[in-house]
Amino acid sequence: MKRRTFLGTLGTVSSLGTLYYTTREPVSELEVRFFLSEGASDYPGIERRVSAYLEGALEYPFWSVDVSMGGIVSTPTEDGADPVRTGRWPFTVGAGITGMGDANPARDVNVLITDGQMSKAPTGYAIPHVASVGGARHLASLEIPTDFDVYDRYTRSALTAQILLHEVGHTLGLRHEHGHIERHEGKTAVTPMVSAYAWDDEFDATSCRCGTTYPTDRDAGRLLSHRFSDCALERLTAYAGGLRP
Ligand SMILES: [Zn+2]
Repeated sequence: MKRRTFLGTLGTVSSLGTLYYTTREPVSELEVRFFLSEGASDYPGIERRVSAYLEGALEYPFWSVDVSMGGIVSTPTEDGADPVRTGRWPFTVGAGITGMGDANPARDVNVLITDGQMSKAPTGYAIPHVASVGGARHLASLEIPTDFDVYDRYTRSALTAQILLHEVGHTLGLRHEHGHIERHEGKTAVTPMVSAYAWDDEFDATSCRCGTTYPTDRDAGRLLSHRFSDCALERLTAYAGGLRP
């Protein structure tokens, strides 16, 4: 792919204190920007797929979504969680917001995608407005759905897309209990915030935050939703944050 921007190495000062959060009126325009590690940027077609999934998952009547590619970021490793866990990616975003860095962060969501492994947790990490996640090779092989309101098959690629949306959800204030689990044609369907936790032995929630009960038998077959649950949407309609006024 053509390298449009190169942001230099991630900030080396480990600090989560460089981000200043602002409060706005509930937003009518959501600004979402994704960035690629060097490893992630090697996959042809990844930009188009990530854009399509972010747009497809986040387009709701209560706001319009502006998704853009922010550039390529040099990272010490391709791990999905490290950029946020070490504070480097939040630092880079914070520096960009104050005009001191090369990055041009978005107001609402800044997600850095690496080629990190997706089989062992943590595969990503999020704080308000900032996230990182691995799985570029799986995202690069996604088929773009024609209808995002239809459940997707449970594949490595589709699950990786859902985990990307999961981390994006966290950046907007969503928690795991905003996720929904339901029966659909004899199978178990999960929305991004609960995702594969639904099949984790240690997952013991019996209902979502809004009180909808989860089915207890979830063994029959797995389906993935790339849209957020009604409970999550209740929270998103009240979203009033941002890194810039
Ligand atoms: Zn989570």
